[in-house]
Amino acid sequence: MTELAKKVARYFPYDNVRPFQDKFVETVFEAIEKGGSALIEGSNGLGKTIATLSACLPKAVEQNLKILYVARTHRQHDRVVEELKAISRKQRISGISIKGRHEMCLNNVVARHALDARAVMEVCEMLKTRDRCPYFRNIEENPDEYSEIQQHITFRPYKASEIQKICRVRGFCTYELVKASLAEVNVIALSYLYVFDPAIRKAFLKNLDAPLHKIILIVDEAHNLPETAIEIASSSLSLFAIKQAELEAKKFGYEEVKDFAKFVRSQIERLMEKIGKEALVSPEVLIELVREKADVGEPLTFFEHLHEIGSSLRRSLLAEGKYPRSFIHGMSEFLLRWVETAEEQSFVNVISKYMSRTGVATAKLEIVSLDPSKITAPVFSSVRSSIVMSGTLQPLEAYTQISKLPENTIKSVVPSPFPKEHILPLVCCGVTTAMEKRTPPMYNKIIKRIQEVSQNTPANIGVFTASFEVLQALRAEKLEKALDKPVFHEHKGMTSKENETLVARFKVHAKHGGAVLLGVQGGRSSEGVDYPGDQMNSVAIVGVPYAEPTPKVRAQIDYFEKRFSGLGREYGYILPAMKKASQVAGRPIRSLEDKGAMIFLDHRFATVYCQHFLPSWIRNSLKILPDKDGVVAWELSRFFRKVC
Ligand code: SF4
Repeated sequence: MTELAKKVARYFPYDNVRPFQDKFVETVFEAIEKGGSALIEGSNGLGKTIATLSACLPKAVEQNLKILYVARTHRQHDRVVEELKAISRKQRISGISIKGRHEMCLNNVVARHALDARAVMEVCEMLKTRDRCPYFRNIEENPDEYSEIQQHITFRPYKASEIQKICRVRGFCTYELVKASLAEVNVIALSYLYVFDPAIRKAFLKNLDAPLHKIILIVDEAHNLPETAIEIASSSLSLFAIKQAELEAKKFGYEEVKDFAKFVRSQIERLMEKIGKEALVSPEVLIELVREKADVGEPLTFFEHLHEIGSSLRRSLLAEGKYPRSFIHGMSEFLLRWVETAEEQSFVNVISKYMSRTGVATAKLEIVSLDPSKITAPVFSSVRSSIVMSGTLQPLEAYTQISKLPENTIKSVVPSPFPKEHILPLVCCGVTTAMEKRTPPMYNKIIKRIQEVSQNTPANIGVFTASFEVLQALRAEKLEKALDKPVFHEHKGMTSKENETLVARFKVHAKHGGAVLLGVQGGRSSEGVDYPGDQMNSVAIVGVPYAEPTPKVRAQIDYFEKRFSGLGREYGYILPAMKKASQVAGRPIRSLEDKGAMIFLDHRFATVYCQHFLPSWIRNSLKILPDKDGVVAWELSRFFRKVC
């Protein structure tokens, strides 16, 4: 046995190693040994979580390093703890999964009004300072009971939900208990925000009691990271929020603030009249307007003044035992950020129109970040090692550049463990959702192909279109009528709860003859939801989900073009679309036992250029079908006859 195998075997809890899992382990182990980073594409079913943990733990334990495992969903975090529990049957190891403070908090004041992670953090701190949280107070009143629970938590792996259950029964704050345990456990599974949002990270690291250079960072489902980084650095201010600030100022007698909010609102409404759906705004325009017309003196000084008013309002509300929300505070934070980013090339300012939940046309101002690396690079360059992995990362060079991974990052594509005969990726020629070809005859041809997929798939199928417009057009051409199975469809603006219910109802049909789920690529049901077994035997990927070429999208392309000459369009436009398509294509295949067909209904997927962005496990088996009725039906019936 090699040194590597011996060290990893101490932690790897299973008797069998999956195909190519050893290659995955080797790459991770090499990066950790060198104190460097690795960017690894490996498909589902490879057992990436356990492979990575087993390869990182020897060094982490030896050198007292902390492992932070970041992923997007709680289900993924819990999966890490489940693997740690398996490891802990061999080696004593501790670990916890944590949720956001607003999800762990048991205090109704926060639970009722939680807006976003940052707001919850501030409110909780205020409640604690003013001794208004019984769960926090209980810690001081019952220190022995509290430390006994803490000892248990740090002794073996615990899921966030398990810790929460204990705290609810004993009346302690879950968040505080988790916080106090962070420094003691080996592995923490958590959301991207704890590590990549600078404000949240600062507070988190303080509790962790470990500097970044003592951390091994594992980023799972890393294809999401660039988009999440952009969201973290961007912010917006809606007409609704400004109106609320105006009302708040009126209520508390701040005449000058009321007039100012009214002025900003009227300016946005005027701008709204002049634009289409979205337009770029020069940051100076707003600053100059305020300087010249708002009669408030120097803009920056006035925005700071607003911030002070907002903060004092929040303090007073809290003192009265109320939820300390201030729209004046929110507006001032946005305006200060507007000034702060005004001269930075990596931001653009945008005004956009949209429909409110109540169906009213409204608008918002946005500060949009164009550079994910401003958020990711400070982390990657400071941690001891990082393992960045996903099933859809290619081309790896593009990912490395966009996220600014360290130069010596090991890049690897681990072969798929799936038996080739378990998957059937097809591209249909003769169909497309390219803008100029969107005609009723084309939609009818696409419907015919979807019909062939539905009729020749044993149970459930997913149909994910390039956009809601395409989905709408297919439905207008009577897609549902052409299908022989019950249909469930996603709609625009659906809440996550509504979506969960829809998906659950769809999944039930896997055992009752099958159903069809209609959704959009990049939508709620096409990413982050697993459909194992018969829950999705086939998936139809209808069209390439290119974004509408809005000013924001064009600004992104231009920015990347400046940074990576000749690659702006590829990085800012092609890559995000192909990532969405690849994610959808992977839905039917989640475990080694799954068998699934992926039918790309757009001839553009047949081009070498597009294929270059697909994961190799799809690319290597891709079959291009001629533009002929019945070919899809024949391929699918033959495939399912063989594998079922
Ligand atoms: S101390 Fe805990 S329970 Fe109290 S508000 Fe903060 S997070 Fe919630």
